Amino acid sequence: MPVSQFMGAANAHYYATRDPLGTDGDFTTAPEISQMFGELAGLWCADLWDRAGRPDLAWAELGPGRGTLAADARRAMARAGLTPPVHLIETSPSLRARQAERMPDATWHDAVDGLPADLPLLVVANEFLDALPVRQLIRRAGGWHERLVACQDLLFLPVAGGQVPDAIIPASLRDAPPGSVIETSPASVGVVRALAERLRVQGGAALLIDYGYEGPALGDTLQAVRGHAYANPWEEPGNRDLTAHVDFGTLAAAARAQGCAVNGSVFQGDWLRALGLDQRAAALARARPDRANEVEAARHRLTDPAQMGTLFRVLALTAPGWPVPAGFGE
Ligand code: SAH
Repeated sequence: MPVSQFMGAANAHYYATRDPLGTDGDFTTAPEISQMFGELAGLWCADLWDRAGRPDLAWAELGPGRGTLAADARRAMARAGLTPPVHLIETSPSLRARQAERMPDATWHDAVDGLPADLPLLVVANEFLDALPVRQLIRRAGGWHERLVACQDLLFLPVAGGQVPDAIIPASLRDAPPGSVIETSPASVGVVRALAERLRVQGGAALLIDYGYEGPALGDTLQAVRGHAYANPWEEPGNRDLTAHVDFGTLAAAARAQGCAVNGSVFQGDWLRALGLDQRAAALARARPDRANEVEAARHRLTDPAQMGTLFRVLALTAPGWPVPAGFGE
């Protein structure tokens, strides 16, 4: 089967059957590292809402995990006077249950098409797009081939499948040397297109945060983590978290084609500092001196270039006529 089908099926099982987050789980994320992350995302939303003239709107998160970002963002938004209805896009029944513990009043949907159609939308997604399936194309001497996953003696392994037309490969990468891999994510492009179309018609903005690059580019970034360590992505499908780096360049182009303004991508570290992370960390450390070391460690982890600071990027889509959001220049 194509790599995209393997990744989609494996992740559907993986997320449906566990809570993957936290020290006992497989990986941790920025909102789980510190409350400051969700609070700043909430303040970003409240500031944009204020400068857009305080319209009635709906707030949504894609792939909310444990609901930590949403809960922290909501608290910060409420302090700024913004208390919108909350919509969560989540396919995993077990994670929906976790989210309901913190947000019993939220409304759940399987996909973006379930979001309200009559209000501007403020949408946040952290480490959501990296979990959506990627297609892999591999260069052989005579052209490009779809990468497939085969099963041989009970082992899964990648093999080159049928040749694909050169026209589906970005022109700048077509002549890459044999062995090169290109990833595309039709699923992510589909989500961003649907979001951008909603924003263009309804107004609002989307904040997309993930590890990634400004592509299209060559490279095989498919990875698996288990118990906070890298693992072989082809082994034990459904029991390891499969992710791929997000091509923000391609997603930005898709949003622009749909009529949205695109801000960034910028590095997560720069974005958080522009929003006042250092000041928030100092205030928290003053309020709880016993936890000052913990706050400083989180601040460092979220922003340091050797940690999450430049690996993670932030892209914001805004509806035509909406203000430039905080943290994106000027
Ligand atoms: N945003 C959270 C969790 C990231 S893990 C955080 O930062 O901590 C990825 C999340 O996306 C999980 O909640 C997972 O169940 C959800 N998810 C993965 N694939 C999905 C899909 N195709 N549709 C909806 N949600 C999905």
